[in-house]
Amino acid sequence: MNELLQTIENTVRPLIGSGKVADYIPALANVNPKQFGIVVYSNEGELFQAGQAKVDFSIQSISKVFSLTLAIKHYGEDMWQRVGREPSGHPFNSLVQLEYESGVPRNPFINAGALVVSDMNQSRFASPHYAMREYIRRLAGNPKLKSDKVVADSEFEFRSRNASMAYLMKAFGNFENDVEAVLHSYFDNCAMRMNCVDLAKAFSFLANKGYCHHSGEQVISAREAKQVNGLLATSGLYDEAGNFAYRVGLPGKSGVGGGIIAIVPNRFSVCVWSPELNKSGNSLAGIAALEALSDHIGWSIFG
Ligand code: GLN
Repeated sequence: MNELLQTIENTVRPLIGSGKVADYIPALANVNPKQFGIVVYSNEGELFQAGQAKVDFSIQSISKVFSLTLAIKHYGEDMWQRVGREPSGHPFNSLVQLEYESGVPRNPFINAGALVVSDMNQSRFASPHYAMREYIRRLAGNPKLKSDKVVADSEFEFRSRNASMAYLMKAFGNFENDVEAVLHSYFDNCAMRMNCVDLAKAFSFLANKGYCHHSGEQVISAREAKQVNGLLATSGLYDEAGNFAYRVGLPGKSGVGGGIIAIVPNRFSVCVWSPELNKSGNSLAGIAALEALSDHIGWSIFG
């Protein structure tokens, strides 16, 4: 497997140069674009890797999966009264559907949906970001993980778009807490720095019926893990979810830091990272690497 990952790295590296690093905040615009890492983690605890698998990056929207599973643990089915389960077909930071759908976001992975989920976690924890950080540290088996304050502060400074969707949801009665406080927690979560090894390990519970073998914790039930994988497969890559299903065929979640996690149910969790993005805000080389991996091993859940 290590050899295959190395071959895939060599195959996709030439794509670097045709995408664009996230530049909506200066702290992300300065990342070196010429980086690539990949990790495959098996349910037996074997770890395979190639490239810059241990270089930390900003997890950004991948954090939405941690927030969702933390909220599911507490709210269960009730949470679906406040957020939908349908793909949006719109960019991750779009507001348009909120107006038509009475402030109920289409799914938990677009920004509006993740903000509602963050609002739920805000109602539940005295220090929501610290609760999240402890949760992520436990799942990754890495007590050193932390948020990048420069990135979080910069996101807050340029918060207008996320703030406007949160206030719109508040106007519809779908937001319980102070908007600015929730935005701080949301940005702190997005700004967590992790590497491919951390992320592949942290999401192994989704490949393993909700059970995290290295922490010995049933994170969510097997049924809930199956449900989250269903949502990842339909909405994890925003308006590119269809293309990702076509090319890769696995539940996945991307972030504008260039990371993508993918789940091979009952077998592996995967993390790939390369900072240059395509126009949907997903890692260009990352998707190509997952496509090659899925093709090579026959991993697509669609046959
Ligand atoms: N922090 C980013 C935002 O809220 C996350 C977006 C992403 O990774 N797609 O805009």
